[in-house]
Amino acid sequence: MQNKVTIITGASSGIGKALAAEAHKRGAKLVLSARRKEKLDEYTSSWNTADFIVVQADVTHEEECRLLIGAAVEKFGRIDILINNAGISMRALFEDVDIDVIRKLMDTNFWGTVYCSKFALPHLLKTKGSLVGVSSVAGYKGLPGRTGYSASKFAMQGFLEVVRIENLKKGLHVLIACPGFTSSNIRNVALSKDGSSQGETPLDENKLMPAETVAVHICNAIEKRKNSLVLTTMGKITVLLNKFFPKFMDGMVYNHMAKEPDSPFK
Ligand code: NDP
Repeated sequence: MQNKVTIITGASSGIGKALAAEAHKRGAKLVLSARRKEKLDEYTSSWNTADFIVVQADVTHEEECRLLIGAAVEKFGRIDILINNAGISMRALFEDVDIDVIRKLMDTNFWGTVYCSKFALPHLLKTKGSLVGVSSVAGYKGLPGRTGYSASKFAMQGFLEVVRIENLKKGLHVLIACPGFTSSNIRNVALSKDGSSQGETPLDENKLMPAETVAVHICNAIEKRKNSLVLTTMGKITVLLNKFFPKFMDGMVYNHMAKEPDSPFK
């Protein structure tokens, strides 16, 4: 990633922030984005300003994504890597959830990826660069209580796969990265059925894969130009078993998720 112009959305927290630190360590030129610009300013305050810019952008707004990509090209003259990482989650049964919650999940996780990818694609084709989506194991297996989340990640994966195939002869690299449960802020701010933040995580975050480990795996996969990456032992087993025994895995996933504290189903 040395000297590669790399855009990271959702770089203010969790996996995105860890990706920024890892890519910085590997010598990338960075364009870091999120809604909370102050969080980006905080950890970049000691960095050399020639190596990065921060851009405030809400990925649910098409125009802000266009401006983000434009700012990258204006500062560095090209784009080598776009990492669509910005994302939110939810926890509520479909029968209880406000439809707006699902819309918000799709707007952020799916449409945010579509907007940024659309504006970055011409630049990525010029550099034969990498288009990356941080999806999830929930993009392979539907997770109960996460209709909007799983739908957005399945959609993201279908979208990125088609972009890869369409550009097979043009040298574009497309990586679909699927972390398993990772320690971050995502479950604290996950939306509950009325759209309010869940407020606290139902998991022991200390027992999950650290965001920094996820970042190392994703950067390695970018450098090796891999098509897909699935992380955590549980994530790998889930994806593999689901391929051959999807019905059995429905039951396994139900039982596992029902055991979460305050699960909306038992
Ligand atoms: P965090 O909540 O820690 O970080 C999410 C990031 O997304 C923040 O930087 C947030 O920044 C940004 N974001 C959210 N909404 C928007 C928006 N509308 N516009 C721009 N930025 C936005 O979560 P993670 O680090 O865990 O999540 C990162 C990605 O990893 C997500 O796509 C998630 O689905 C995926 N993932 C996470 C897993 C986990 O267990 N943690 C497992 C599998 C996948 P700000 O609020 O400042 O805008």
